[in-house]
Amino acid sequence: MNYVIIGNSVAAVGAVEGIRKIDKVNPIVIISDEPYHTYSRPLISYYLAGKVTQDNMYYRGKDFYKANNVEPILGVKAQHIDFDKKEVVLEDGRKISYTKLLIATGSKPLTPPIEGVEKQNVFNFIKLDDAKAIEKVATRDSKAVVIGASFSGLKAVEALVQRGVNVTVIDIMDRIMPRVFDETASSMALKMLEKYEAKVLLKTSVEKILGHQAAIGVLLKDGREVPCDFIVLAAGVRCNTDLVKGTKLKINRGIIVDTMMRTNIPDVYAAGDVAEGYNFIEERNTEIPIIPNAYKQGETAGQNMAGAQKIFDKGFIMNSMPLLDLSIVSAGVSAPGEGITVKTIYNQEKNTYKKFYIRGNNLVGYLLINDIDRAGIYTDLIRRKIDISSFEHQLGRDDFGFIYLPKALRSQLILEG
Ligand SMILES: Cc1cc2nc3c(=O)[nH]c(=O)nc-3n(C[C@H](O)[C@H](O)[C@H](O)COP(=O)(O)OP(=O)(O)OC[C@H]3O[C@@H](n4cnc5c(N)ncnc54)[C@H](O)[C@@H]3O)c2cc1C
Repeated sequence: MNYVIIGNSVAAVGAVEGIRKIDKVNPIVIISDEPYHTYSRPLISYYLAGKVTQDNMYYRGKDFYKANNVEPILGVKAQHIDFDKKEVVLEDGRKISYTKLLIATGSKPLTPPIEGVEKQNVFNFIKLDDAKAIEKVATRDSKAVVIGASFSGLKAVEALVQRGVNVTVIDIMDRIMPRVFDETASSMALKMLEKYEAKVLLKTSVEKILGHQAAIGVLLKDGREVPCDFIVLAAGVRCNTDLVKGTKLKINRGIIVDTMMRTNIPDVYAAGDVAEGYNFIEERNTEIPIIPNAYKQGETAGQNMAGAQKIFDKGFIMNSMPLLDLSIVSAGVSAPGEGITVKTIYNQEKNTYKKFYIRGNNLVGYLLINDIDRAGIYTDLIRRKIDISSFEHQLGRDDFGFIYLPKALRSQLILEG
């Protein structure tokens, strides 16, 4: 009996810890094309900002592999999986056989179809190596263009601004973080970015990257040119299914898994950003590309690979994001839709914003800006599908808490812990 895990990030760590809850003995091999000890991906923006060193970024201590009897094969890509022979073929020709396999290959950046996107000084922003490459060119007073006012684009902006780089962010949409932000939230972020002298160009797109070998600027669809020394692409991410495309493994946007993280092939599991698992709020399988989900899916897969019968069916999107002066937390549904009532509370004076998405008698999503202390309570209401009809009108109170819940419900929650 042996376990093989492709990937060395959150889902992989969850799987190792899941396996070791049940099986303390049989060996585990981890394969990763990144050469590093497992690290926390969100910290790449703090690394670029100079706030953490590589040594502070590790997701688990230096003895993690040894303590868990894991053989790490790092800096080598898995090139092919032979599901019939139960073998993973590495790019250097080695073949690693498995009894149980976990695919945890995460997500990959989307490359927008822009002329010149292959030029030097055009970077993604998803891996530690991306941050290291950007670090070399992001000198004080240099000029950067960030394509995409998405979550990772704005984390790049934050880091670059803190390095003293002059940044211009460009997005085709009419607002910042369009998947989560509405007009109000976007205008709060725009005001804050203005304070840090980051320029934001919305409702326009990049037609061409200018320069011979290296990027020296961008040409916009509306004819304007923005000169720069380097470009960061942040046009979104996709499940990284490259390794298994065209095989008999069932894929939609991600690898389709059941609530035990099993794929359609016996003894093959998938977890984390690469998987399309059960989304508790949407009540269907979706990608859920966040750390808590990757960990829980990985842990569930690991336990089941070792013989348990664990189910994880509580995944949903939740994100907590400090962005320069703004504290942002969002969870669940993030756009109006059929059957959803939206309630908003904007306090201009305090510069706070709360937005709630309610379906029937349940809270199914929220966005909080600069007033995030109650995020845990709101998340609990979502996760436990609590009937909020009797206290819905209290949700937005500054002092909202369990005290506003009906007594019977409070006692029930205390008992459940
Ligand atoms: C800038 C940034 C900020 C983020 N901030 C947050 C945040 O604040 N909160 C949050 O919850 N989430 C955040 N995320 C998302 C979070 O990092 C991911 O959800 C999480 O890392 C997913 O873990 P994973 O194990 O599924 O995959 P990944 O972390 O993507 O790791 C997959 C690994 O597999 C490797 N791999 C891929 N293919 C192969 C192959 N063929 N052979 C060998 N190895 C391979 C990859 O190189 C990679 O090392 C952020 C992401 C980024 C990029």
